[in-house]
Amino acid sequence: MPAKPLHILVFGAHPDDCEYLAGGITCLYSHLGHKVKLVSLTNGDAGHLDTSGAQLARRRRLEAAAAARAMGAESLVLDNHDGTLMPTLELRHEVIRIIREFRADLVLSHRPNDYHPDHRHTGVVVQDAINMVIVGNLVSFSPALNYIPVMMYLWDHFQKPYPFIPDVLVDIDEVYEQKIDALHCHTSQMYEFIFGKTDIPEDQRRAWLKGKVENDLVEPANMYRKKLQKVYGSEKGSRIRYVEAFEVCEYGSPLTDQERRRLFPFLSD
Ligand SMILES: [Zn+2]
Repeated sequence: MPAKPLHILVFGAHPDDCEYLAGGITCLYSHLGHKVKLVSLTNGDAGHLDTSGAQLARRRRLEAAAAARAMGAESLVLDNHDGTLMPTLELRHEVIRIIREFRADLVLSHRPNDYHPDHRHTGVVVQDAINMVIVGNLVSFSPALNYIPVMMYLWDHFQKPYPFIPDVLVDIDEVYEQKIDALHCHTSQMYEFIFGKTDIPEDQRRAWLKGKVENDLVEPANMYRKKLQKVYGSEKGSRIRYVEAFEVCEYGSPLTDQERRRLFPFLSD
């Protein structure tokens, strides 16, 4: 166990976003004894073809909890409707409270330019909260932090207004199966909604899912191959299959070399 475990806070819009975009590093942090909390700002109550509302929200919360357990992390699903998330002041204050109470060292979230309004608004809210965590007169009952955490964006492939900048690339090959285990917990999302397949026998589902997400999850490593070779050396950088990528948000504390070493202890450089 590290003398002072890191506290990593991931904010996604929906109950599977954190796992999909940061599940690998969640496992890596957990293995080293650091604390990771995955927060979904919506309850996921619109992401299904047949069910919705409270019944689906409760189901998705249980699935998110199981996924987090599979990675050794904590889970929190806020009770905001899926598909209608707005970057309100109330939500910003709730995010400030969560960052303070968890005493986050590193905060991850979506970029504010994304196809999905819930992702976009999640990015806006977290970005708007990150600097305010030190302002004591806001959210009075939650003591202000005396530092601003580093904030980084989760990977996406959108090109406008500018393409994602992979400031930090993390090789997740050694924990990839565990990441798939976590995604496999999201039955209502992965099997019943996104890919619309409910007729796969129980014992074949995980393998089917692994095949289905392969093209998507292999993309960042192929996209940033040159940088990977630079970071990990040409031999290792050429064979890494899965990475998770993060871009610095300039509203958080700067990611100095010292902070990079502290916050990403599993990086080789
Ligand atoms: Zn999402």
